[in-house]
Formats: sequence, C-alpha cells, structure tokens
Amino acid sequence: MDIQEQLAATMEKMLSICQAQYGKSIKTYWFYDDDLCPCCAKRRTETFKYKHKEALSLNAFMYHELGVLIGYALCGICAADLLKSSKKHQALMHESIERHLIEAYHKHMLRAN
Ligand SMILES: [Zn+2]
Repeated sequence: MDIQEQLAATMEKMLSICQAQYGKSIKTYWFYDDDLCPCCAKRRTETFKYKHKEALSLNAFMYHELGVLIGYALCGICAADLLKSSKKHQALMHESIERHLIEAYHKHMLRAN
C-alpha cells in the first residue's frame, strides 16, 4: 500500500469509529488535504519518523454545526508538540486547528459549488 491508500484506509476506519460515537449526526466527511499543517500553517504535513517507522499524524474533528467530520494531518513538529503539551495548551492548539479547518472547509465548499 502506498501512503495515499493507507490514508484512505485509515480515514475509512476513523469514519466508522466516529460514526459509532456520533451516529447520524455525521452527514458527510471531508479530508483537509492542503499541504500546510492546519496547526502552524507553516510546515508541510508529511510523514515523520516515529519509533523507527514512517508515521503520519491523522486526526479528525467533528464540525457539529454542519455535521461534517473533518479529517486532517499535522506536521511532525505540531504532532509532537500536542503530545507533550499541557492540557491547557492542547486545548488552545485544538481551537486554532479547528478554526483553520472550518475556514478551509467553507473555502472548499465555495470552490465546489
Ligand atoms: Zn504544524
């Protein structure tokens, strides 16, 4: 499997886990595929070494207002930061990521229409 196939397979898995959690409130899902990390908006989201293997930090955020599950990847530095940050700092990072994702989703929808 190449990275795109792995990504698709992981998204499928994540979607079914989230559907079990949120049920019918998920109307659709979308993957944020911009090159830049939605957390720092500076670095590219790419694979990084984790325990001697190539890893990608995959996450999902439920945009409740529109019922969209948004999948996204982070750059290695933000992913590591999130792991070692305090709860308070994590919450701030998530807030900024979510703002960025919502904005990107609306832009994507404007382009799609
Ligand atoms: Zn980043």
